[in-house]
Amino acid sequence: MAEKLSAVKGMNDILPSAVPRSEKLPDSALWQWFETAVRTVMGRYGYQYLLTPIVEPTALFVRGLGEVTDIVEKEMYSFTDSMNGDKLTLRPEATAGIVRAMIEHNALYNGPLRVWTLGPMFRHERPQKGRYRQFFQLDAEALGFAGPDVDAEMILMARALWRELGLVEGEHVRLEINSLGQTQERLAHREALVRYFEQHAAALDADAQRRLHSNPLRILDSKNPAMQALIEQAPSLMDFLGPESRAHFEAVCSALDAVGLQYRINPRLVRGMDYYNLTVFEWVTDHLGSQGTVCGGGRYDGLIAQLGGKAAPAVGFGLGIERLLLLVQELGLPMPSAAPDAYAVVPPGTPLAPVIATLEALRAAGVRVVQHAGGADGPGSMKSQFKKADASGARYALIFGADEMAAGELTLKSLRDGGGAQERQPLASPAAWARKLQSAA
Ligand code: ATP
Ligand code: MG
Repeated sequence: MAEKLSAVKGMNDILPSAVPRSEKLPDSALWQWFETAVRTVMGRYGYQYLLTPIVEPTALFVRGLGEVTDIVEKEMYSFTDSMNGDKLTLRPEATAGIVRAMIEHNALYNGPLRVWTLGPMFRHERPQKGRYRQFFQLDAEALGFAGPDVDAEMILMARALWRELGLVEGEHVRLEINSLGQTQERLAHREALVRYFEQHAAALDADAQRRLHSNPLRILDSKNPAMQALIEQAPSLMDFLGPESRAHFEAVCSALDAVGLQYRINPRLVRGMDYYNLTVFEWVTDHLGSQGTVCGGGRYDGLIAQLGGKAAPAVGFGLGIERLLLLVQELGLPMPSAAPDAYAVVPPGTPLAPVIATLEALRAAGVRVVQHAGGADGPGSMKSQFKKADASGARYALIFGADEMAAGELTLKSLRDGGGAQERQPLASPAAWARKLQSAA
């Protein structure tokens, strides 16, 4: 036999539930359910779908995210195009690519724009539960809006998605917000921060020492437990905000208050990219261990100009789909069944033409029906067919027995509630009883 190949480490197959897997990752039915909810919610808020390439020029991320960020320093899949020497990178996040596209197509010419996308991102991280090298994000961006109203909209749109999925905010996911202020305010804070950490230089770990002068703010983001007490006492950016930044933040908070959304102001929330200013937020959960952030976002008013566009404010979020679905799975939230309505059992020797005609008519009427399909030597025994029917999760078996068919009928057998209840239905008019197959949904 030829040698088997495996997927790249940290990159997952999203499989139908019937396929057994060693690692319990959400199955494809869960993904489809999530995507349907996303389309519904995005539509309600007037966000439009867009797709951008998975591969972008490396310079886009270096310039967009900042050189001294985890992503650019050590997580990017970058390579040289062997055909022409171009330096390329598999996108580690979606915002930079979307901004690039909006600038390239002069998309804000007619005014602000709300967009969303969904797809794979790539980061070279140590794979573990909730952290992969290829992972999927839902990404929403509102470009050209300066006001705090749209910051609140972003946050509430995520809340609407939780509700659509059956997640309860406050219980399953909770909101943390902060303001990063503007550049001048951050600079003043940064100086105070450097002074503070210099006074405690001996207590800094290697990462923090390296970042002390290149990007001290990022030290606040450290996950090292030994650093937490020191970080706790560090000067807070909130104390350096001027009146305008403060007013923007307060306006976001009061919009959230107005709809009764609880949140925690977390002055240490800084986020991993350099492009953020003013509002930043994360939706976090306590049910997933250390990979607890399911959604993170904020305002990035400088990025469009920084990437060569006409200056325009913007705000967005990225949501980790694997993490969110792991959470849904962990909580055992109810979701619509992906099982078919019916499974067609076709005894060996049955003439196929009337079977297929009936099934096609049922499907045209909206019934989800799986036909038992046989191997090269026929459909297999009735026993094995019924086993498959049960395993399919269908509520009914449609039995195309010789007796029934001779009478122009088939048998409809319930597979649920103990099963067994049987009745005959006419082959000739499936639309008349199609409703019955669906009604128990
Ligand atoms: P973390 O602090 O967990 O590394 P991050 O701040 O790097 O997250 P963002 O860049 O804000 O993450 O991405 C938005 C969301 O994408 C995260 O909140 C998370 O849900 C998800 N995410 C980020 N990196 C990964 C990964 N390697 N695997 C799976 N999901 C991820
Ligand atoms: Mg990260």
